[in-house]
Amino acid sequence: MSEQQKVYPVPADVASNALINKAKYEEMYKQSVEQPDAFWAEHGQRIDWMKPFSKVKNVSFDTHNVDINWFEDGTLNASANCLDRHLETRGDQVAIIWEGDNPEQSENITYRDLYTRVCKFSNALKSQGVRKGDVVTIYMPMIPEAAVAMLACARIGAVHSVVFGGFSPDAIAGRIINSDSRIVITADQGRRGGKAVPLKENVDEALTNPQVKTVEKVVVVQCTGGDIAWHDHRDVWYHDIYEGASDICPPEEMGAEDPLFILYTSGSTGAPKGLKHTTGGYMVCASMTHQYIFDYKEGDVYWCTADVGWITGHSYIVYGPLANGATTLMFEGVPSYPSHSRFGDVVDKHNVNILYTAPTAVRALMAQGDDVMGDSKRDSLRLLGSVGEPINPEAWEWYHKNIGNGNCPIVDTWWQTETGGILISPLPGATDLKPGSATLPFFGVQPALVDGQGTELEGATEGGLILQDSWPGQARTIWGDHERFVQTYFSTYPGTYFTGDGARRDEDGYFWITGRVDDVLNVSGHRMGTAEIESAMVAHKDVAEAAVVGYPHEIKGQGIYIYITLNDGVDESEDLRKELVKWVRKEIGPIATPDLIQFSDGLPKTRSGKIMRRILRKIAANECDGLGDTSTLADPGVVDNLIESRLNR
Ligand code: ATP
Ligand code: MG
Repeated sequence: MSEQQKVYPVPADVASNALINKAKYEEMYKQSVEQPDAFWAEHGQRIDWMKPFSKVKNVSFDTHNVDINWFEDGTLNASANCLDRHLETRGDQVAIIWEGDNPEQSENITYRDLYTRVCKFSNALKSQGVRKGDVVTIYMPMIPEAAVAMLACARIGAVHSVVFGGFSPDAIAGRIINSDSRIVITADQGRRGGKAVPLKENVDEALTNPQVKTVEKVVVVQCTGGDIAWHDHRDVWYHDIYEGASDICPPEEMGAEDPLFILYTSGSTGAPKGLKHTTGGYMVCASMTHQYIFDYKEGDVYWCTADVGWITGHSYIVYGPLANGATTLMFEGVPSYPSHSRFGDVVDKHNVNILYTAPTAVRALMAQGDDVMGDSKRDSLRLLGSVGEPINPEAWEWYHKNIGNGNCPIVDTWWQTETGGILISPLPGATDLKPGSATLPFFGVQPALVDGQGTELEGATEGGLILQDSWPGQARTIWGDHERFVQTYFSTYPGTYFTGDGARRDEDGYFWITGRVDDVLNVSGHRMGTAEIESAMVAHKDVAEAAVVGYPHEIKGQGIYIYITLNDGVDESEDLRKELVKWVRKEIGPIATPDLIQFSDGLPKTRSGKIMRRILRKIAANECDGLGDTSTLADPGVVDNLIESRLNR
């Protein structure tokens, strides 16, 4: 099998200026796993506690009694950690730069201003009967009020459940029912790529579901001023309850293990899971990973392009950066509007130093050609990040060269909704980079690889990725379904947390995520992850994106079926198909020879932008009836087209 050999050593100037260098990483990592209590007792101090904790870690991964607690007797408030504690030192510093969908619109919100907005809205929520422990559903566009709403919930001890603004009425209803939410916060409409998104209308429709019984109030932010239906008994304008509210709201004292939020996974592998995250450990994890992995320093402008509806938005737009007193950029729009150079334009406009985005966005830009960033300079950038899927080495190189001007390290961050924060990632000043590898574990994280029997594998090898011990940001349970939590994560390899991902470890101990274990191919007895073949395809000059699945094959057991999206302006042809078959044989070897290659204008993705291979597997197997849970699918039209022109009939 081919190995990506290219190494990007830590640049000397980065090493000398970074918070953590190689020696420091090794020393801290060693302490974090050998003396976790001492390590986390020290680093637990990075956030402000109302009552200090005396216990650090109290965790059982025993299948009969999975129970996860960190800093359990301490008390704190997450919003106070993001706001109050900064007022004295940085009240006038910008906390949030908001960049509108419309490039003419942006706004700078200082820490003092954000604090006032959060206090006022906290009181407004109280006036609507919201109490500590209530679940509040937030279905919002990427506007400052989304962050204000999250922080206001945290301030008064309500548990937020943010539902991504691209979800359908059914998906909203399901999440409300699952969480017994009493309040929904939304906007009249959102804006994305110059189009209006009917948020309030979707909420109205969700609430017609007879099983939604708990919702008493819908708070509506006036965002576009578009026409909406109104229900007097239930709907209230945000500005009506906000304007007159007091700007004094002391933060509620919360136990470290009191819930901060519920958040659902992306639904790549099945029905989404609603994870419960608690307050103390999560805040320590989000702020610490944000500081060290992005090598965040005072004065940096930091931009994570995720939506607040995903864990990436929770931990790395809101809680992590704000806990660190950073300036965090919140972007309402999409990378392709008004043109494909938007990312570069925004970087230049706000002098962004750190940019964190997803492989799906990188590949989409890459498909537009090398001059896609237009006239933008992007010379303020010093660090790039990637999250959500394995980043194909080709896309990594492109990102490095065409966005980062060849001089920004890339942190490829592996983690999950369940993990609360990044677990495997380079640290810019400590880790030599290899394109396509998430590299090494963060402090306190103990990854291991196991075979199908659960036997731990040593050395350079490939297997299922497990985590042998807890870390503070870990989800505590699936909301209302602890049994599913235990079954999903702790029963496959008892005594450990099973990630559901496969990985390879190379001779330097670097981790390479190979894909979901459910997606592993078995061709004539050879096991292959999806990532490697997909990366080989993406390395071809005409290929924008590729997804690989296995399908039943009489001789080989499984055949290799590849779905391919071509670069902008490239036409599909029989010759190209043959060339791509040859290409894979050359790049990886004859064992990876594709049996079927289907060209397609798009691939089925979750709304967070991940390829949904389980649907592609069904189509490849010619089982187009039961596609499973498609509630998080971004564009059902893509699936219809793929079924229409499927190759295995
Ligand atoms: P579901 O759990 O509902 O199937 P999901 O796993 O896609 O959905 P998320 O929690 O959003 O939901 O995504 C976590 C997964 O994303 C990881 O388990 C991994 O497969 C993938 N992932 C995230 N970051 C990376 C990365 N840097 N490299 C490789 N894979 C990544
Ligand atoms: Mg998952």
